[in-house]
Amino acid sequence: MNEFQLIERFFSPLGQTDNELFVTGNGDDCTVLTLPAGASLCCSIDTMVEGVHFLKGAPADRLAYRSLAGAMSDLAAMGASPAFFTLALTLPEVNEAWLARFAAGLKKLVDAYNFPLLGGDTTKGPLCISIQVHGLLYAAPLLRSGAQAGDIIAVSGTLGDAGAALSLLEKFNMKSSGLSQEEQYLLERYYSPSPRIALGQALLSCASSCIDISDGLLAEAAHIAKASSVALSLDSDKLPVSSELLFLKGKERARELALSAGDDYELLFTLAPEKWEVLVAGVPELRLSQIGVVQAGEGVFLDGLRAQNLLKGYQHFE
Ligand code: ADP
Ligand code: MG
Repeated sequence: MNEFQLIERFFSPLGQTDNELFVTGNGDDCTVLTLPAGASLCCSIDTMVEGVHFLKGAPADRLAYRSLAGAMSDLAAMGASPAFFTLALTLPEVNEAWLARFAAGLKKLVDAYNFPLLGGDTTKGPLCISIQVHGLLYAAPLLRSGAQAGDIIAVSGTLGDAGAALSLLEKFNMKSSGLSQEEQYLLERYYSPSPRIALGQALLSCASSCIDISDGLLAEAAHIAKASSVALSLDSDKLPVSSELLFLKGKERARELALSAGDDYELLFTLAPEKWEVLVAGVPELRLSQIGVVQAGEGVFLDGLRAQNLLKGYQHFE
């Protein structure tokens, strides 16, 4: 199977779209798109390298899903609606069974969000998955820079689950059999993060700032604090952690993971207190938690103490 047959068989089927807003020339030298009137285009690219972002031998469908969901999380954080994505895939070999599983993992999100794959690049080398996502916005984007003293700080979902799963994966050497129900839950959270697209769109009309949590809560809070020139004061007792994480790790370790572990892909945002009730009513299916307040000043505080030394967000090249 050559490169073109591979693309034709596994990736072209993911480019079907009834979204007549765009599409011309998928499969040509370039994909050509016509944007709807009044729309802004949001773009973000994420790369996952074997041995750095995932373990060797990770199941291909899980890997595909996590890579795409993680990339889509950046669209959610801006309040954009997913439009289409492109994929640059580097493969050590052509393994048809692996490719079929990989494409099946992508297809779940392609179908769920009407989010077609409109082009890419396929090369030979060490396994590397690079996904560029594109979204549309009809309003001003949710930025990291609008937080105001007096705003509530809030997060979606629960934190620390994906970080705890990572140590499980290492311990069990990728096997998911023989895991307890709680361990299975953590593994699901790691492999299948939910891009908070609907929440991002709900936040467009009420949030003052927003970021997605890919590198750990404290690290992301520091980004908002810096961009907004304010201090973020967090209350460790209010961090939302799952009952599964509490059960497996205990209160202290769960809190540590919630503060510093990455890969949860929940949203961290700020908003004026009077807007809270309307927001919560607008996304009844989601758990939203208030975890602190924005204050004048700079940096991140945890229970009144400067959190600088706790910052353990994973930073490349350090
Ligand atoms: P070119 O040499 O013009 O860059 P390529 O040979 O790289 O073209 O790709 C041929 C076509 O297949 C292009 O339309 C490209 O967008 C598409 N394509 C290549 N790899 C992928 C992929 N992994 N997923 C989806 N489309 C792909
Ligand atoms: Mg090319």
